[in-house]
Amino acid sequence: MIKIRFKDLANTEKWNFSQLWEHEPLINWNMLRKTILLLILASLMSLFGIIWDSFVLLNSATWQWVNLPLVRSKLWTNLIMLCVFLSMIIPCYFYKDKKWVQNIIPILSVQVFTVLLCHTGYLIGSFSPATMVAYVSVVGVGLVLFDRRMIYCALVPATIALLFCSFLSICGILTYAPIFKPEVLNQAQMHPFWVGSMFFFLLPILIACLYLFESLLTQWRTRETAIQVLSRLDPLTNVMNRRSISNHLEKLYQQPDQLYSVVLLDLDHFKSINDHFGHNMGDQVLVQVAKCLSDNIRDQDMIGRFGGEEFILLLPNTTTPHAQNVAERCRMAISQLIFTTEDHQEFSVSASFGISSSLSADEPHLVISQADQALYAVKAAGRNQVKIFTDLVAN
Ligand code: GH3
Ligand code: MG
Ligand code: MG
Repeated sequence: MIKIRFKDLANTEKWNFSQLWEHEPLINWNMLRKTILLLILASLMSLFGIIWDSFVLLNSATWQWVNLPLVRSKLWTNLIMLCVFLSMIIPCYFYKDKKWVQNIIPILSVQVFTVLLCHTGYLIGSFSPATMVAYVSVVGVGLVLFDRRMIYCALVPATIALLFCSFLSICGILTYAPIFKPEVLNQAQMHPFWVGSMFFFLLPILIACLYLFESLLTQWRTRETAIQVLSRLDPLTNVMNRRSISNHLEKLYQQPDQLYSVVLLDLDHFKSINDHFGHNMGDQVLVQVAKCLSDNIRDQDMIGRFGGEEFILLLPNTTTPHAQNVAERCRMAISQLIFTTEDHQEFSVSASFGISSSLSADEPHLVISQADQALYAVKAAGRNQVKIFTDLVAN
């Protein structure tokens, strides 16, 4: 005999799938958390810029290929930007509850980051591989993570600015990619310094975007799997829902010569349990009955919630006498469950079982209908019993 107290029942977790969401998905992060991520990525980009600028300034061999005063000014810009990005993380972290932080910092971060990208893009060339990859990747990730209006507000002026710079370069008013000396750019063969620089500018963007896309994809796949699993389950009892059981039944039907039995069971006088002990207690009885049934069937058997207090067992490769044994075992197990309410009242439940198999009907809905007729006969005969449809017909 198994004793189940209401308190234990109330504390049991309904969902076993919460672990799938243990780590809050990146996409569900609040705006300030996403802003901190953006600021860290922007700082990483500034840092890579500082490393390139310092490398060039410290290596006199590279001076022949670059515009030194611009590299110096780029170094200062990157240093200032790094300080700005890092200092913007502080209010996101310490004043996260303040309205002005929530409203202003995300927009400001996106705008300042865009200015840095445009500035670097213009210096290294508006149509250089690094600028193009940054443009596409940052816009893609930005649109996934942030509000679309925020991204478009930065994207439209940035695109206009880059196109305008390119137009001025075509007209000969502005120098294209002014950080490089013309001989680095104007060669039929690619200049190794230019290729190396492009690769270095690309690296932080590729690392950041790859990480973000990877984590977003993982979250999408996890969520997809979880939704698929949940769509097949009954939310209260965690056994299969009716749609899922119907799908399995259809699959069995599609297999040639596949023998299976169906057991329908209905809890007896369940309405009076709700009436006496409350709906919540009724729910917990359903949960425990489902668990009890799961414990008493084989691995290949399936269990589903067919209706309110009705369950269905699908037993592949099982004749009705074997199904009767399973049903008897389940009936005994259910009747041995003892429930205890919060005010220490004890009660037990019973269930009626009807059985049919694919041998007595062709289509699945007919097998279920026959099992239902057998169940109805049990109810009429006093409940808490097991009956097989073919026995009813024989009598
Ligand atoms: P019988 O022995 O003839 O089957 O009697 P019964 O009281 O079990 O059957 P009836 O059809 O009269 O009542 C079924 C009750 O099951 C009524 C409904 O409130 C209850 N029920 C259905 N779904 C749920 C549920 O999800 N939770 C709870 N607590 N009760 C439910
Ligand atoms: Mg009932
Ligand atoms: Mg019923």
